[in-house]
Amino acid sequence: MTNEPSNSFRLLLVSSPIGPLGSGLGGGVELTLRNIAMEMRRRGHTVKIVATPGSNSWGMPLVEIDGTPQISAQTQGRDAPTIMPASSALANVWEYARQVQGDYDLILNFAYDWLPFYLTPFFHRPIAHLVSMGSLTEAMDQVIEKVVTEFPGTIGVHSQAQAATFAFADRCQCLGNGIQLSMYEFSAQPSPWIGWVGRIAPEKGLEDAVAASELTGIPLKIMGFLQAEGYWQRILRDYPTAPIEYEGFLETTELQKRLGKCQALLMTPRWVEAFGNVAIEALACGVPVIAYRRGGPAEIVEDGKTGFLVEPDSVEGLVEAIRKLPQIDRYACRQRAEAEYSTTAMGDRVEQWFRDILKWRK
Ligand code: UDP
Repeated sequence: MTNEPSNSFRLLLVSSPIGPLGSGLGGGVELTLRNIAMEMRRRGHTVKIVATPGSNSWGMPLVEIDGTPQISAQTQGRDAPTIMPASSALANVWEYARQVQGDYDLILNFAYDWLPFYLTPFFHRPIAHLVSMGSLTEAMDQVIEKVVTEFPGTIGVHSQAQAATFAFADRCQCLGNGIQLSMYEFSAQPSPWIGWVGRIAPEKGLEDAVAASELTGIPLKIMGFLQAEGYWQRILRDYPTAPIEYEGFLETTELQKRLGKCQALLMTPRWVEAFGNVAIEALACGVPVIAYRRGGPAEIVEDGKTGFLVEPDSVEGLVEAIRKLPQIDRYACRQRAEAEYSTTAMGDRVEQWFRDILKWRK
């Protein structure tokens, strides 16, 4: 058994330095990091999180490193160059990781940024990269491919659809995702409204959900981080009579309470959503998901059973699906979350991924 890594690992989890954990700026990465950290600790591994100041680490050991944030990858074109600001938080975080790497068995990178991929061969400890978005720029595609070629098995993704956006799809490890189901309460009796949850940003296609709410007259509760103010103002101008209400960016405890009251969650992304944490959070509350048949949500939702899959960008499709909601058994949604999206199920896959990487690097 000399090739087997020991049973407990020392893990350094390096967050995306786009904003503090718990702020919403990092989108689904924040919840994913929290759940992986907690699950790995529950399994007896040592976990330390590196993130920017003001982060919530949910009681887990945290090192805060300051600096200027990167520009979000999803706001740039395919040919966008890689830009490093002065006093870059990303560079500072990876300088710290370089210095302390000897204290860890494995470093887990959550940042969708060029630098940590580029630095991988310069580290003597293995780095696992959990890629949180699909292909967005040529520079990122190239650097990720270089890593997967030199260090096979170290690139993790959340869905097959996300992997398929890359030329090296078959070399990605598909890890899905998982949530702490005990934090989400099953809600059998919804209120007469529907929900939309996510970062308010153009790639999320909120306007289609607003249009569906206007057409059906069913109120839409919007929950999430307001990332693009101009985009939001445009929606308010374009749909002045839509019965919508913005509830703000909510902590998970409050989010699940309000989400549970919804008749359905609408997911209307324009891009290939890598996974869509909000889909499994809704299912955990017993809330059916109506999503465009594109990206991660199309792998999560079983059409006619845990929600409906709709032709992408079709508002009429959303409206039709809303009318069919009484066909869905909310308990079946909760059951699906329990069967496939628990932190235990996700932890098994992630732990095996780490184990394989450590074995290959021996
Ligand atoms: N979220 C939250 N509070 C809110 C709305 C959303 O904490 O009021 C979190 C939600 O739990 C999820 C994340 O925001 O983890 C959105 O992630 P998703 O994977 O759906 O999309 P992303 O933002 O990564 O594109």
